[in-house]
Amino acid sequence: MTDLTAFIAALPKAELHVHHVGSASPRIVAELASRHPDTAVPKDPEALAEFFTFRDFAHFIELYISVVDLIREPEDIRLLTYEIARDLARQQVRYAELTVTPHTSVKRGIPDVAFMEAIEDARTAAERDFGVVLRWCFDIPSELGLPAAEETARMACELRPDGLVSFGLGGPETGWPRGQFKPYFDRAVAEGLHSVPHAGETTGPRTIWDALTELRAERVGHGTSAVEDPRLLAHLAEHRIPLEVCPTSNVATKAVPSLAEHPLPAMVEAGVLVTINSDDPPMFGTDLNNEYAVAARLLGLDAAGVAALARNAVEASFLDEPGKARLTAEIDAHLAAWPG
Ligand SMILES: [Zn+2]
Repeated sequence: MTDLTAFIAALPKAELHVHHVGSASPRIVAELASRHPDTAVPKDPEALAEFFTFRDFAHFIELYISVVDLIREPEDIRLLTYEIARDLARQQVRYAELTVTPHTSVKRGIPDVAFMEAIEDARTAAERDFGVVLRWCFDIPSELGLPAAEETARMACELRPDGLVSFGLGGPETGWPRGQFKPYFDRAVAEGLHSVPHAGETTGPRTIWDALTELRAERVGHGTSAVEDPRLLAHLAEHRIPLEVCPTSNVATKAVPSLAEHPLPAMVEAGVLVTINSDDPPMFGTDLNNEYAVAARLLGLDAAGVAALARNAVEASFLDEPGKARLTAEIDAHLAAWPG
């Protein structure tokens, strides 16, 4: 371990763009599989490790679907959520906004109220047992269209669990223009939820503009193609609209050809508030600590620079002001105590 990776490993962090099912690590999948012995997911640890070795995007989808298939009962949801918090705590994540797609589970037969109880049970237990504060972003899976948007907005607004802070939009961008989801975002925003759609991951800057103007995005998931439009970069910088950057994910999904070509340095150069996140970490063979190490390499950062990235995430989060002040102070103390 280099000094900088040791610094990152012990650095208190906030994670703002990480998916619920996409966070199921081999350890968690093994636990879920043991609850459902009829699954096709390999059970012995070696085969499971092989199953989790990232090959390409098609394999990621296969892996993702097989995990979705293991989530059949409220107890699976509770277990998954609680165990994700354990994995986050090990990386010194103190606060995470987890992107949850309730529609996927409800469509598969888990009653919506039971779903909400399961995530809330896990949230309370995770804070008590691991000291990790979890918050939810309910996101619309775009590929399921407007009925899924309607259902997600209904659950967010009518069943609103205490941990819910934001409303999102994931899934494919091509063929699913952001603007058609406007009524659902209007409804969520009117209920006091923050708007955090994915945009500009696989399509151009026009999609990011649409997310800002149509969906009233306060933060943008990925925003990778923003660098193609200097006026957009200037707008993001001027209005301090943060981007949730997930470098390894962008290479895995081929949104970016290689890490060396990642636009993160251009975003920083333009003065945009960037945050570093992990997206679907075990499925892309990464974790948040590795994403910070990747960002440090791309940006040529030392410990102070990495701490500044961690502070960005706190600033961009929907944590309350006292919570932000506490976490920022923890980051500062970690930096101050670091030799050299
Ligand atoms: Zn995502």
